[in-house]
Amino acid sequence: MNQKITIKHLLRKISPRRRAYETNRQAARVMIVREVTLCAEDHGVLVGRIAIKDQRRSWGSCSALGNLNFSYRLLFLPPCLRRYIILHELAHRRELNHSRRFWVVVADWCPWYLTAIKTLRALERSKGTSLPVLRAFAPLHAATCPYCIDLMQSNNEHTATVGSVERI
Ligand SMILES: [Zn+2]
Ligand SMILES: [Zn+2]
Repeated sequence: MNQKITIKHLLRKISPRRRAYETNRQAARVMIVREVTLCAEDHGVLVGRIAIKDQRRSWGSCSALGNLNFSYRLLFLPPCLRRYIILHELAHRRELNHSRRFWVVVADWCPWYLTAIKTLRALERSKGTSLPVLRAFAPLHAATCPYCIDLMQSNNEHTATVGSVERI
């Protein structure tokens, strides 16, 4: 079979969703691994493997062994929401459930967690897990959110990331 036709045929079979994932997975991995490492050191918890997935129903998860899964869409979230999701999963290294004790840890590590949860739920209700919605939302939110501004000031690289997310 003609090589060109084969490649064309293969490309046609990849959905836009799959392509967006393939395009952004590596950038998401770099950012998430960096931030998880930083936060884990900060709070003195050990983590296992970090996997970046295309999961729409969940932003992140943590196994009993400390293996972490994150949606590559974290790459497109504003800093305070991304940080909340990472700290939430890391808090599971202390409490592997959603007990009161778990939320005490989260509140201690991430004082804006209630606002973050509310914003994430609102995003999910407004199809906010689709990349165009996230791309429009993140810079607008980050420009006026005191938590995002704080995080960006404490780490200038976040500013660069919010401003220059890769186009598909
Ligand atoms: Zn949880
Ligand atoms: Zn924010």
